[in-house]
This record gives sequence, C-alpha cells and structure tokens, in this order.
Amino acid sequence: MQKTLNSLKLEFNSFSYFYRIILSVLAVVSLMIFIWNTCTHNVIIASLKVNYPHFEQDVFNISFPSDSEPIDTENFVTEDDPPKDEFDNDIPSEIGNHDYIVASGDTLSSILNQYGIEMPDIRQLVKADRHLYSLKIGQKFSWTLNTDSQLQRVVWEVSRRESRRYDRIQDKFKLSVLLKTGTWQRDRLTVVVNGSFINSAKLAGLSNSEISEVIKSLQWQIDFRKLRDGDYFKVLTMREMLDGQRQQSELIAVNLRSSGKNYYAIRAADGKFYDRRGSGLTSGFMRFPTIRRYRISSQFNPRRSNPVTGRIAPHKGVDFAVPIGTPIFSVGDGEVMVSKSSGAAGNYVAIRHGRQYMTRYMHLKTLLVRAGERVKRGQCIAFSGNTGRSTGPHVHFEIWINNHAVNPLTARLPCMRGISGEARQNYLDRVNEALLQFNSR
Ligand SMILES: [Zn+2]
Repeated sequence: MQKTLNSLKLEFNSFSYFYRIILSVLAVVSLMIFIWNTCTHNVIIASLKVNYPHFEQDVFNISFPSDSEPIDTENFVTEDDPPKDEFDNDIPSEIGNHDYIVASGDTLSSILNQYGIEMPDIRQLVKADRHLYSLKIGQKFSWTLNTDSQLQRVVWEVSRRESRRYDRIQDKFKLSVLLKTGTWQRDRLTVVVNGSFINSAKLAGLSNSEISEVIKSLQWQIDFRKLRDGDYFKVLTMREMLDGQRQQSELIAVNLRSSGKNYYAIRAADGKFYDRRGSGLTSGFMRFPTIRRYRISSQFNPRRSNPVTGRIAPHKGVDFAVPIGTPIFSVGDGEVMVSKSSGAAGNYVAIRHGRQYMTRYMHLKTLLVRAGERVKRGQCIAFSGNTGRSTGPHVHFEIWINNHAVNPLTARLPCMRGISGEARQNYLDRVNEALLQFNSR
C-alpha cells in the first residue's frame, strides 16, 4: 500500500505544474459531487417519512440495486374493474362522468392529460373556446367519455350563473353557453340514519349528486359503512330553483354526529372540504410505491392500441422496472380490498383510500397484507416479482379516482396541507357562518 502511494506521489510530481493544478482541482470537484449526492439521497429518503414495520437491514440492500432489469413493454393487464365494497353498490353512480375542481396551478391540458385525454382533443376544445385558457381555482369541470375512452362532452361551471358545454361533433367541439336564470337559496336538511345511509338521505330529500358530495366531503374522517342507526347529519346546500323546480345544487357544509362525536366538513373558496380548523384531512400520498423512482418501462396509456389486433387495449397504470424482491409500499393510508393471486395480474394488491381513491399493485412475488387490513402510507405491503402475464420483473402500479384509472405520474393526489394565510381567515368566517346555521332552529 505504502509502496503504491509512493509511486503515485512520484508519478504526480513528475507532471508539470499546470497538470498538477488541473489534477488537484478535478479531485476536489469529484469529492464534492460525491458528498452532495450522498446528502441529497439521504434527504429524499428522510422526506418520504416511510414506516418500515416488517423487515430488517438486509432487505434495504435489495431496494438499492445497481441497475434494474429490462422488461416487457406489451404487458396487457386484463383485470379491469377495480374491486368494490358493499357500500359502492348503494352509491348512486353517474357512470362515465368525471368531476374535477380546478386547483392552483391547473391548466386545461394538465387536468385532462392526467386522465389520458389526448392533446388533439384538448387543442380542439381551446379552438372552440379560448376562454378555456383562463380557468379559475374552485371552478367545477366535468366530462364524459364514450365507450372508446374518447372525450364526448365537457361541462365547465364558470359561475353559478353560467356554464359552458362542449359537445364532440366528429373531430371538433361545439360550444353552448348556458345561462341560469333560477334563484339560489340556502337550505338545511337533516338526515337521521335508519338502516342504509343512502336511503335515509334520499328520504330526507337529498338528490343523488348531493349524497355523493356528502360522502366525498367526509371520506377522510369517517367510514360510511360504520354508521349506526340514530347517527345524524346536518347538511347545508345552495340550491338553484326555477319555477319551483330544483335545477342544481352545491354542498356548503356537513356536520355529522356519530357515537357522541361531531365531525365537520366545510367547503372553502378553493372548492375543497376541510375540517372546522381548516386542517388538511388526509396524510397525503407518495408518488411512487417504492423507496425511489425506478425506470419506467411502460407508460400509462388508456388508448394504447394492440399492435397485433389494432384494438384499443388500455394500459391503465405505469410499469416500473424494479428487480424481484423490491419492497412495495402503500402510497397512502387505506384499507386492503384485495390481496391474492389472480390470472394476468399475478399476485396483486388493491388498496382503497377514502371513498374516491384506489391504488393497485401487480405482478408481485410475496404478499404481506390481507384483505380487510388497514395500512398506513409507506407501509410495506409486498415484495415485487414477475408473476401473472409479465415477461420480466416489474411492478405495475395504478391509481383510480372515482372509478377512473388516471396517470399515476401526473394525477392530482389528495393533499395534506391545510389552509393558511389570508384564505384561512376567509375560511374560518365560513365555518362560523355554517356553525350558526347548524345550530339555529
Ligand atoms: Zn403494466
């Protein structure tokens, strides 16, 4: 060792002064890059706040492979329908319809892209109406797809007074502006649970869409399947009335009293629901089901055509090229719906988060959770594998929102941040107003 060092030293001294300077600078820079990499890598891991309940140090070594295997790119998973629980059967569904509340930073294309709607359609929409460039936070956006997953109709609620509808006519979209002439009134309804929540709510006079809104607003705080007879909801809505008929409505606030406890969900100016203090209601989601982002071997593509048959064979998730044995994490808090071996999907896990979100993980090797089990964000649920219809080690990862598969890389995920700053004061004013109405006779 000493000998080698000495010969290196001699070698170094034999270079000219100029080259010695260059060599020293290169050595210092390499050292800095090495240190910087090590630090940022640790910071990323720390910021994931992942819990590792079940495994020991040697498992971690598996999760940092030098490189991942190449895998198939034509892996058609046929396990299409996301699993449902008994409560889903009762929920009034508006099939093929999707709702979205515009959030900060959204554009028309960022919203529609995450659902796999293609750029030519988005361009045609903007051609029909350039106002679509100026979406505002809190506005409601909804759309319908046809059986080919092609955009059929878009409705943009510009205000309570105006909505704009875009209907597909061949490759173009036709704009209709709908002005609402009814009057808006505030209503308070009380639902006393007796048997099924949905039936009780219908009896109390709530419409299907109002019921869906109530369920969404409280999804992070309570499990609707665990309501008991005698629990009751107070619901505040704004309803548009025209010639004595109800046209549409907007949920303002909900107060549930269940087992002696009060739960609140109140709509903020951004169109989302928060609790009485303005806190965010979920612990948030991780973007990937692995400790780091692996190479993507196949992208989300709901309109991918099969190269052989030419038929649409959607790829409803993203494939990450992870080596066999990689720990796979639940990306959010939730309940395991499925954990089993199943044909094309191989060993797979489906997890439900609240009432609107579902994630699925396929082609796994070892399953570590059971159906019905509650899991935390960052909990290891399985080790990856190459099972089912798969020609190489990888994990196929899906995110579903309201029964639609969305692009896991770009989907808007529920957020853990509460309301702060000026918006918070505005929100607390709304809360006080709602509380007054809940408690008034
Ligand atoms: Zn896949």
